[in-house]
Amino acid sequence: MKRAKRIDQVPEYLFVQISRKIAEKRARGIEVISFGIGDPDLPTPQPILDELRAASEDAVTHRYPESEGLPEFREAVAGWYAGRFGVDLDPEKEVLSLIGAKEGIGHAPLGALDPGDTALIPDPGYPVYSVGTLFAGAEGYRLPLTEGNRWLPDLDAIPEDVARRASLLWINYPNNPTGATAELDFFENAADFALKHDAAVMHDACYTEVAFDGYCPPSFLEASGAKDVGIEFHSLSKTYNMTGWRLGMAVGNADMIEALRVVKSNLDSGVPQAVQRMGISALKLSADVIAERNAVYQGRIDRVVEALKSIGLSVERPRASLYVWARVPEGYTSAEFSERLLDERDVLVSSGSGYGEHGEGYVRLSITVSDEDVDRAVDRISSWKVPDPAGARQ
Ligand SMILES: *Cc1c(COP(=O)(O)O)cnc(C)c1O
Repeated sequence: MKRAKRIDQVPEYLFVQISRKIAEKRARGIEVISFGIGDPDLPTPQPILDELRAASEDAVTHRYPESEGLPEFREAVAGWYAGRFGVDLDPEKEVLSLIGAKEGIGHAPLGALDPGDTALIPDPGYPVYSVGTLFAGAEGYRLPLTEGNRWLPDLDAIPEDVARRASLLWINYPNNPTGATAELDFFENAADFALKHDAAVMHDACYTEVAFDGYCPPSFLEASGAKDVGIEFHSLSKTYNMTGWRLGMAVGNADMIEALRVVKSNLDSGVPQAVQRMGISALKLSADVIAERNAVYQGRIDRVVEALKSIGLSVERPRASLYVWARVPEGYTSAEFSERLLDERDVLVSSGSGYGEHGEGYVRLSITVSDEDVDRAVDRISSWKVPDPAGARQ
Protein backbone atom coordinates (compact mmCIF):
# COMPACT_ATOMS: atom_id res chain seq x y z
CA MET A 1 0.00 0.00 0.00
CA LYS A 2 1.23 3.46 -0.84
CA ARG A 3 2.24 5.79 1.94
CA ALA A 4 2.75 9.53 1.45
CA LYS A 5 6.36 10.66 1.22
CA ARG A 6 5.71 13.36 3.79
CA ILE A 7 5.14 10.68 6.42
CA ASP A 8 8.54 9.15 5.82
CA GLN A 9 10.10 12.61 6.03
CA VAL A 10 8.83 13.18 9.56
CA PRO A 11 11.45 12.46 12.19
CA GLU A 12 10.21 10.12 14.89
CA TYR A 13 8.57 12.26 17.56
CA LEU A 14 11.24 12.94 20.12
CA PHE A 15 9.51 11.41 23.09
CA VAL A 16 8.69 8.13 21.39
CA GLN A 17 12.34 7.13 21.77
CA ILE A 18 12.51 8.46 25.31
CA SER A 19 9.39 6.57 26.42
CA ARG A 20 10.81 3.39 24.95
CA LYS A 21 14.02 3.75 26.95
CA ILE A 22 12.13 4.29 30.19
CA ALA A 23 9.89 1.29 29.51
CA GLU A 24 12.93 -0.94 28.96
CA LYS A 25 14.42 0.10 32.32
CA ARG A 26 11.11 -0.29 34.12
CA ALA A 27 10.72 -3.77 32.71
CA ARG A 28 14.01 -4.60 34.43
CA GLY A 29 12.67 -3.21 37.72
CA ILE A 30 14.71 0.00 37.57
CA GLU A 31 13.02 3.23 38.47
CA VAL A 32 14.03 6.03 36.15
CA ILE A 33 13.56 9.65 37.13
CA SER A 34 12.62 11.46 33.94
CA PHE A 35 13.38 15.08 33.18
CA GLY A 36 12.33 14.32 29.62
CA ILE A 37 8.89 15.70 28.85
CA GLY A 38 7.65 19.20 29.67
CA ASP A 39 4.32 18.15 31.16
CA PRO A 40 3.36 19.84 34.45
CA ASP A 41 3.14 17.35 37.34
CA LEU A 42 1.12 19.75 39.51
CA PRO A 43 -2.67 19.40 39.27
CA THR A 44 -5.04 21.70 37.41
CA PRO A 45 -6.27 24.27 40.00
CA GLN A 46 -9.49 23.17 41.71
CA PRO A 47 -11.77 26.05 40.58
CA ILE A 48 -11.07 25.06 36.96
CA LEU A 49 -12.04 21.46 37.68
CA ASP A 50 -15.18 22.63 39.48
CA GLU A 51 -16.16 24.52 36.35
CA LEU A 52 -15.75 21.37 34.25
CA ARG A 53 -18.12 19.50 36.54
CA ALA A 54 -20.70 22.28 36.40
CA ALA A 55 -20.35 22.74 32.65
CA SER A 56 -20.78 19.03 32.00
CA GLU A 57 -24.23 19.22 33.64
CA ASP A 58 -25.32 21.83 31.12
CA ALA A 59 -26.67 19.98 28.09
CA VAL A 60 -25.54 22.73 25.71
CA THR A 61 -21.98 21.50 26.22
CA HIS A 62 -22.92 18.02 24.98
CA ARG A 63 -23.26 19.33 21.47
CA TYR A 64 -20.84 20.45 18.75
CA PRO A 65 -18.85 23.51 19.62
CA GLU A 66 -18.07 26.07 16.91
CA SER A 67 -14.63 25.96 15.30
CA GLU A 68 -13.68 29.49 16.25
CA GLY A 69 -14.56 29.00 19.91
CA LEU A 70 -17.31 30.22 22.22
CA PRO A 71 -17.75 34.01 22.13
CA GLU A 72 -17.35 33.97 25.93
CA PHE A 73 -14.01 32.16 25.65
CA ARG A 74 -12.74 34.57 23.02
CA GLU A 75 -13.84 37.50 25.18
CA ALA A 76 -12.03 36.00 28.18
CA VAL A 77 -8.88 35.67 26.08
CA ALA A 78 -9.14 39.30 24.93
CA GLY A 79 -9.70 40.42 28.52
CA TRP A 80 -6.69 38.45 29.72
CA TYR A 81 -4.45 39.87 26.97
CA ALA A 82 -5.53 43.40 27.85
CA GLY A 83 -4.82 42.86 31.54
CA ARG A 84 -1.62 40.91 31.21
CA PHE A 85 0.06 42.60 28.20
CA GLY A 86 -1.91 45.77 27.55
CA VAL A 87 -2.75 44.36 24.09
CA ASP A 88 -6.19 45.07 22.62
CA LEU A 89 -7.80 42.26 20.65
CA ASP A 90 -11.11 42.07 18.84
CA PRO A 91 -12.57 38.82 20.22
CA GLU A 92 -14.52 38.27 16.97
CA LYS A 93 -11.74 38.61 14.45
CA GLU A 94 -8.46 38.39 16.32
CA VAL A 95 -8.95 35.41 18.64
CA LEU A 96 -9.36 31.73 17.79
CA SER A 97 -9.62 28.74 20.14
CA LEU A 98 -7.25 25.82 19.57
CA ILE A 99 -7.14 22.18 20.68
CA GLY A 100 -3.90 23.10 22.41
CA ALA A 101 -1.27 25.35 20.88
CA LYS A 102 0.35 22.38 19.17
CA GLU A 103 -2.71 21.85 17.02
CA GLY A 104 -2.70 25.47 15.88
CA ILE A 105 1.04 25.50 15.26
CA GLY A 106 0.80 22.33 13.20
CA HIS A 107 -2.12 23.57 11.11
CA ALA A 108 -1.20 27.24 10.69
CA PRO A 109 1.26 26.64 7.82
CA LEU A 110 -1.62 25.17 5.76
CA GLY A 111 -3.24 28.59 5.87
CA ALA A 112 -0.04 30.56 5.40
CA LEU A 113 2.24 28.68 3.01
CA ASP A 114 1.99 27.28 -0.51
CA PRO A 115 4.06 24.35 -1.71
CA GLY A 116 7.60 25.55 -2.39
CA ASP A 117 7.37 28.57 -0.05
CA THR A 118 10.04 29.07 2.60
CA ALA A 119 9.57 29.28 6.37
CA LEU A 120 12.35 30.37 8.74
CA ILE A 121 12.58 27.97 11.65
CA PRO A 122 14.69 28.28 14.80
CA ASP A 123 17.22 25.51 15.46
CA PRO A 124 17.15 24.12 18.12
CA GLY A 125 13.37 24.39 18.35
CA TYR A 126 10.04 22.76 19.08
CA PRO A 127 9.70 20.14 16.31
CA VAL A 128 6.16 21.08 15.23
CA TYR A 129 7.26 24.27 13.40
CA SER A 130 9.20 22.26 10.85
CA VAL A 131 6.75 19.36 10.62
CA GLY A 132 3.81 21.74 10.03
CA THR A 133 5.87 23.41 7.32
CA LEU A 134 6.63 20.03 5.75
CA PHE A 135 2.94 19.04 5.78
CA ALA A 136 2.14 22.25 3.89
CA GLY A 137 4.67 21.24 1.22
CA ALA A 138 6.87 24.21 2.08
CA GLU A 139 10.59 24.36 2.81
CA GLY A 140 12.12 25.09 6.17
CA TYR A 141 15.26 27.23 6.40
CA ARG A 142 16.94 26.82 9.76
CA LEU A 143 18.03 29.81 11.81
CA PRO A 144 20.77 28.83 14.25
CA LEU A 145 20.24 29.72 17.89
CA THR A 146 23.55 29.73 19.72
CA GLU A 147 24.91 30.58 23.13
CA GLY A 148 26.87 33.38 21.41
CA ASN A 149 23.69 35.11 20.21
CA ARG A 150 21.88 34.35 23.48
CA TRP A 151 19.65 31.87 21.62
CA LEU A 152 18.03 34.61 19.52
CA PRO A 153 18.13 34.24 15.73
CA ASP A 154 20.37 36.80 14.06
CA LEU A 155 17.91 38.19 11.53
CA ASP A 156 20.58 40.38 9.91
CA ALA A 157 22.66 37.28 9.17
CA ILE A 158 19.94 35.68 7.02
CA PRO A 159 21.23 35.63 3.42
CA GLU A 160 19.45 38.24 1.30
CA ASP A 161 18.03 35.71 -1.18
CA VAL A 162 16.60 33.63 1.67
CA ALA A 163 15.11 36.67 3.40
CA ARG A 164 13.55 37.75 0.12
CA ARG A 165 11.81 34.44 -0.51
CA ALA A 166 10.81 33.79 3.12
CA SER A 167 7.05 33.87 3.74
CA LEU A 168 7.05 33.03 7.41
CA LEU A 169 9.25 33.49 10.49
CA TRP A 170 8.73 31.24 13.52
CA ILE A 171 9.88 32.48 16.91
CA ASN A 172 9.33 31.19 20.47
CA TYR A 173 10.12 33.09 23.71
CA PRO A 174 10.42 32.14 26.51
CA ASN A 175 12.10 29.41 24.51
CA ASN A 176 11.85 25.67 24.42
CA PRO A 177 14.37 24.00 24.67
CA THR A 178 16.92 26.67 25.66
CA GLY A 179 14.97 28.57 28.35
CA ALA A 180 16.09 31.81 26.67
CA THR A 181 13.97 34.95 26.84
CA ALA A 182 13.49 37.83 24.40
CA GLU A 183 12.74 41.47 25.06
CA LEU A 184 10.54 43.84 23.13
CA ASP A 185 13.42 45.14 20.99
CA PHE A 186 13.87 41.65 19.50
CA PHE A 187 10.14 41.40 18.77
CA GLU A 188 10.27 44.81 17.09
CA ASN A 189 13.16 43.65 14.92
CA ALA A 190 11.16 40.56 13.99
CA ALA A 191 8.13 42.67 13.06
CA ASP A 192 10.34 45.04 11.01
CA PHE A 193 11.98 42.11 9.26
CA ALA A 194 8.56 40.69 8.34
CA LEU A 195 7.29 44.02 7.10
CA LYS A 196 10.40 44.60 5.00
CA HIS A 197 10.31 41.13 3.42
CA ASP A 198 6.54 40.75 3.15
CA ALA A 199 6.63 37.76 5.49
CA ALA A 200 4.47 36.75 8.43
CA VAL A 201 5.56 36.14 12.01
CA MET A 202 4.20 33.32 14.13
CA HIS A 203 5.23 33.56 17.76
CA ASP A 204 4.81 30.63 20.10
CA ALA A 205 4.24 32.27 23.47
CA CYS A 206 3.19 29.27 25.50
CA TYR A 207 5.68 29.93 28.33
CA THR A 208 5.02 33.59 29.10
CA GLU A 209 3.42 32.65 32.45
CA VAL A 210 6.19 30.32 33.59
CA ALA A 211 8.76 32.83 34.81
CA PHE A 212 10.89 33.40 37.88
CA ASP A 213 12.26 36.12 40.16
CA GLY A 214 9.44 38.48 39.23
CA TYR A 215 10.39 38.44 35.54
CA CYS A 216 7.42 39.22 33.30
CA PRO A 217 7.93 38.01 29.69
CA PRO A 218 6.44 40.25 26.98
CA SER A 219 4.04 39.28 24.21
CA PHE A 220 5.11 39.69 20.58
CA LEU A 221 1.90 41.66 20.09
CA GLU A 222 3.27 44.41 22.37
CA ALA A 223 5.78 45.26 19.62
CA SER A 224 4.72 48.11 17.36
CA GLY A 225 3.38 46.86 14.06
CA ALA A 226 3.20 43.26 15.32
CA LYS A 227 -0.49 42.86 14.61
CA ASP A 228 0.07 43.97 11.01
CA VAL A 229 2.36 41.02 10.36
CA GLY A 230 1.79 38.30 12.88
CA ILE A 231 -0.08 36.08 15.25
CA GLU A 232 0.82 34.55 18.57
CA PHE A 233 0.03 31.10 19.89
CA HIS A 234 -0.81 30.67 23.52
CA SER A 235 -1.77 27.73 25.59
CA LEU A 236 -3.45 27.01 28.87
CA SER A 237 -1.32 23.87 29.15
CA LYS A 238 1.75 25.29 30.83
CA THR A 239 0.03 28.37 32.27
CA TYR A 240 -2.57 26.47 34.32
CA ASN A 241 -1.26 22.88 34.41
CA MET A 242 -3.84 21.89 31.82
CA THR A 243 -1.93 19.80 29.27
CA GLY A 244 -4.50 17.01 29.53
CA TRP A 245 -7.46 19.25 28.70
CA ARG A 246 -6.18 20.53 25.35
CA LEU A 247 -6.94 24.22 25.16
CA GLY A 248 -5.03 27.05 23.54
CA MET A 249 -5.56 30.11 21.41
CA ALA A 250 -4.19 31.96 18.40
CA VAL A 251 -4.43 35.74 18.55
CA GLY A 252 -3.38 38.68 16.39
CA ASN A 253 -3.60 39.57 12.71
CA ALA A 254 -7.22 39.13 11.58
CA ASP A 255 -6.38 37.80 8.09
CA MET A 256 -3.99 35.19 9.46
CA ILE A 257 -6.51 34.17 12.11
CA GLU A 258 -9.19 33.85 9.43
CA ALA A 259 -6.92 31.64 7.28
CA LEU A 260 -6.30 29.33 10.24
CA ARG A 261 -10.02 29.30 11.03
CA VAL A 262 -10.80 28.13 7.48
CA VAL A 263 -8.27 25.30 7.80
CA LYS A 264 -9.58 24.25 11.19
CA SER A 265 -13.25 24.48 10.33
CA ASN A 266 -12.63 21.77 7.75
CA LEU A 267 -10.64 19.52 10.07
CA ASP A 268 -12.10 19.83 13.54
CA SER A 269 -15.24 21.19 15.10
CA GLY A 270 -13.55 23.12 17.85
CA VAL A 271 -12.71 22.57 21.49
CA PRO A 272 -15.34 20.82 23.66
CA GLN A 273 -17.47 23.56 25.17
CA ALA A 274 -16.97 22.31 28.72
CA VAL A 275 -13.22 22.60 28.24
CA GLN A 276 -13.61 26.14 26.91
CA ARG A 277 -15.59 26.96 30.05
CA MET A 278 -12.68 25.62 32.08
CA GLY A 279 -10.52 28.04 30.12
CA ILE A 280 -12.81 30.97 30.91
CA SER A 281 -12.58 30.23 34.62
CA ALA A 282 -8.81 29.74 34.37
CA LEU A 283 -8.23 33.08 32.65
CA LYS A 284 -10.14 34.79 35.45
CA LEU A 285 -8.11 33.23 38.27
CA SER A 286 -5.94 35.45 40.40
CA ALA A 287 -2.34 35.75 39.23
CA ASP A 288 -1.33 34.49 42.69
CA VAL A 289 -2.15 30.96 41.56
CA ILE A 290 0.50 31.26 38.87
CA ALA A 291 3.02 32.95 41.16
CA GLU A 292 2.74 30.17 43.77
CA ARG A 293 3.22 27.50 41.14
CA ASN A 294 6.23 29.34 39.70
CA ALA A 295 7.80 29.47 43.16
CA VAL A 296 7.66 25.65 43.25
CA TYR A 297 9.39 25.44 39.85
CA GLN A 298 11.99 27.95 40.90
CA GLY A 299 12.98 25.85 43.92
CA ARG A 300 13.43 22.85 41.65
CA ILE A 301 15.47 24.80 39.12
CA ASP A 302 17.84 26.05 41.80
CA ARG A 303 18.51 22.51 43.01
CA VAL A 304 18.90 21.02 39.52
CA VAL A 305 21.22 23.82 38.36
CA GLU A 306 23.44 23.35 41.43
CA ALA A 307 23.65 19.60 40.91
CA LEU A 308 24.59 19.98 37.25
CA LYS A 309 27.25 22.57 38.03
CA SER A 310 28.68 20.33 40.73
CA ILE A 311 29.50 17.66 38.13
CA GLY A 312 31.05 20.12 35.70
CA LEU A 313 28.25 21.14 33.34
CA SER A 314 28.04 24.72 32.20
CA VAL A 315 24.53 26.02 32.86
CA GLU A 316 22.73 29.31 33.25
CA ARG A 317 19.69 29.61 35.48
CA PRO A 318 16.68 30.23 33.21
CA ARG A 319 14.48 33.29 33.85
CA ALA A 320 11.47 31.53 32.36
CA SER A 321 10.17 28.28 30.79
CA LEU A 322 10.16 24.78 32.24
CA TYR A 323 13.69 24.00 31.11
CA VAL A 324 17.24 23.88 32.32
CA TRP A 325 19.55 23.87 29.30
CA ALA A 326 23.05 22.69 30.10
CA ARG A 327 26.24 22.27 28.09
CA VAL A 328 27.66 18.78 28.38
CA PRO A 329 31.32 18.25 29.32
CA GLU A 330 33.98 18.60 26.64
CA GLY A 331 34.37 15.44 24.56
CA TYR A 332 30.77 14.27 24.88
CA THR A 333 27.95 14.58 22.39
CA SER A 334 24.48 15.28 23.81
CA ALA A 335 23.34 11.75 23.05
CA GLU A 336 26.44 10.13 24.57
CA PHE A 337 26.10 12.17 27.73
CA SER A 338 22.39 11.53 28.23
CA GLU A 339 22.82 7.83 27.50
CA ARG A 340 25.62 7.59 30.03
CA LEU A 341 23.59 9.43 32.68
CA LEU A 342 20.64 7.14 32.08
CA ASP A 343 22.75 3.99 32.19
CA GLU A 344 24.73 4.89 35.29
CA ARG A 345 22.29 7.00 37.32
CA ASP A 346 18.82 6.16 35.97
CA VAL A 347 18.16 9.81 35.32
CA LEU A 348 16.72 10.75 31.97
CA VAL A 349 17.41 14.06 30.23
CA SER A 350 16.72 15.03 26.61
CA SER A 351 19.55 15.36 24.11
CA GLY A 352 19.76 18.85 22.71
CA SER A 353 20.48 17.37 19.28
CA GLY A 354 16.89 16.08 19.20
CA TYR A 355 15.75 19.70 18.80
CA GLY A 356 18.00 20.41 15.83
CA GLU A 357 21.67 20.29 14.90
CA HIS A 358 22.46 23.48 16.83
CA GLY A 359 21.22 21.81 20.00
CA GLU A 360 24.21 19.47 19.80
CA GLY A 361 26.41 19.73 22.87
CA TYR A 362 23.52 20.48 25.23
CA VAL A 363 20.93 18.59 27.24
CA ARG A 364 17.50 19.76 28.37
CA LEU A 365 15.95 19.01 31.73
CA SER A 366 12.25 19.67 32.26
CA ILE A 367 11.48 20.53 35.87
CA THR A 368 8.01 19.01 35.80
CA VAL A 369 9.14 16.32 38.25
CA SER A 370 7.84 16.11 41.83
CA ASP A 371 9.92 17.77 44.57
CA GLU A 372 10.76 14.37 46.06
CA ASP A 373 11.97 13.05 42.73
CA VAL A 374 13.99 16.21 42.14
CA ASP A 375 15.73 15.57 45.47
CA ARG A 376 16.42 11.97 44.61
CA ALA A 377 17.67 12.87 41.15
CA VAL A 378 19.87 15.62 42.56
CA ASP A 379 21.47 13.03 44.88
CA ARG A 380 22.02 10.66 42.00
CA ILE A 381 23.55 13.39 39.83
CA SER A 382 25.74 15.06 42.49
CA SER A 383 27.30 11.77 43.52
CA TRP A 384 28.14 10.84 39.94
CA LYS A 385 31.69 10.91 38.76
CA VAL A 386 31.26 11.67 35.07
CA PRO A 387 33.38 9.12 33.23
CA ASP A 388 36.07 10.08 30.81
CA PRO A 389 34.27 10.67 27.49
CA ALA A 390 36.62 8.39 25.59
CA GLY A 391 35.78 5.57 28.04
CA ALA A 392 32.09 6.37 27.67
CA ARG A 393 32.26 5.57 24.00
CA GLN A 394 33.39 1.98 24.41
C1 LIG B 1 4.16 22.52 25.26
C2 LIG B 1 4.45 23.34 24.05
C3 LIG B 1 3.43 23.64 23.13
C4 LIG B 1 2.09 22.96 23.07
O1 LIG B 1 1.24 23.16 24.05
P1 LIG B 1 -0.23 22.59 23.97
O2 LIG B 1 -1.07 23.79 24.16
O3 LIG B 1 -0.32 21.61 25.08
O4 LIG B 1 -0.46 21.95 22.65
C5 LIG B 1 3.72 24.52 22.10
N1 LIG B 1 4.94 25.05 21.95
C6 LIG B 1 5.94 24.75 22.79
C7 LIG B 1 7.27 25.37 22.58
C8 LIG B 1 5.73 23.88 23.85
O5 LIG B 1 6.75 23.57 24.65
